[in-house]
Amino acid sequence: MEQIYNFSAGPSVLPKSVLEKLQQELLSYQGLGMSVMEMSHRSSHFEEIIKQAEQLLRELMDIPENYKVLFIQGGASLQFSMVPMNLMNKHNHAYYVNTGSWAEKAIKEAKKQGEVSILASSKDQNFTTIPSIIKSDIEPNTDYVHITTNNTIKGTRFTEIPDTGNVPLVADMSSNILSETFDISKFDLIYAGAQKNMGPAGVTVVIVREDLVGTHQEDLPAMLDYETYAKAGSIYNTPPTFQIYVTKLVLEWIKDLGGIEAIEKMNHDKASLLYHYIDQSPLFSNHVEEESRSLMNIPFTTDSEELDQEFLKLAESKGLISLKGHRSTGGMRASLYNAMPLEGVQTLIDFMKEFEAKHQ
Ligand SMILES: *Cc1c(COP(=O)(O)O)cnc(C)c1O
Repeated sequence: MEQIYNFSAGPSVLPKSVLEKLQQELLSYQGLGMSVMEMSHRSSHFEEIIKQAEQLLRELMDIPENYKVLFIQGGASLQFSMVPMNLMNKHNHAYYVNTGSWAEKAIKEAKKQGEVSILASSKDQNFTTIPSIIKSDIEPNTDYVHITTNNTIKGTRFTEIPDTGNVPLVADMSSNILSETFDISKFDLIYAGAQKNMGPAGVTVVIVREDLVGTHQEDLPAMLDYETYAKAGSIYNTPPTFQIYVTKLVLEWIKDLGGIEAIEKMNHDKASLLYHYIDQSPLFSNHVEEESRSLMNIPFTTDSEELDQEFLKLAESKGLISLKGHRSTGGMRASLYNAMPLEGVQTLIDFMKEFEAKHQ
């Protein structure tokens, strides 16, 4: 099989060893003669899988006891609705920080549930930076503040988690969960679709302070109520069993590598290698403000649409795939999630150097 490096923003690269294990176990999980996909979600085998997945996540992220870990379907996009449905319960109001397309989608859905104020925005800077958040701007009669910790499309990230005082802090962590250490106690609810850094598409993790669960006023449909999942250990109905299993394997892989701290160091090494190269390159540039740069998603461009196209075509022929930037930004984007090996980044840089030499 030809060696390729997959820089897709999501669904994205998974650790090779995880895929190999899945392949080995596909037909017969632990000698049972059947696949995880074929097992009852109420079987002791699956109960063990979901329990371990939760336990590993708690251990790796150091999640305090008073937080629930829920496995939900519908992607991060369903959380754009579930968060306000469940948490806009006292003041019918929330603050959102607008840092790009995903934040804007979250804002749009929240507005259907209640009143939304924009606490800070980097829209005027074309989302190339993370705006500063001023604590005194947060009026206490609000239900929560929402941020997007990593902005997958523009390539920015919060390097400092804002202090919102007594107001709950909610974070969309879809594209940088498990990429660096976070103090979970600074957050009150975190959600993340698995398909960027945690597993396959189809499962979303919600980490929520338990006293925020079940506080909504109106009756919610069972499947949109966090309490349903919290009470049933995420097995109220059939959960995405295979996705949860793969997620568990990815979490084991992280643990074996030395946990999030070890992963964080590798992520810094990978990202700085690429940023350093881009910053000194006469051909390529990244337009994100230095302090706000993402470790996971690195957009870059030659500032010529034609050259960008040529670059993408050639890169693909060399096995460097899914480097095309988001359709809203154009150019290129290299997503360097946890499972992207350092050699992938080095191979990309070598190719960029070669391309640069030919186009000066
Ligand atoms: C990918 C992404 C989403 C959307 O996730 P879905 O699982 O496709 O709904 C939301 N927020 C961020 C930050 C993302 O990167």
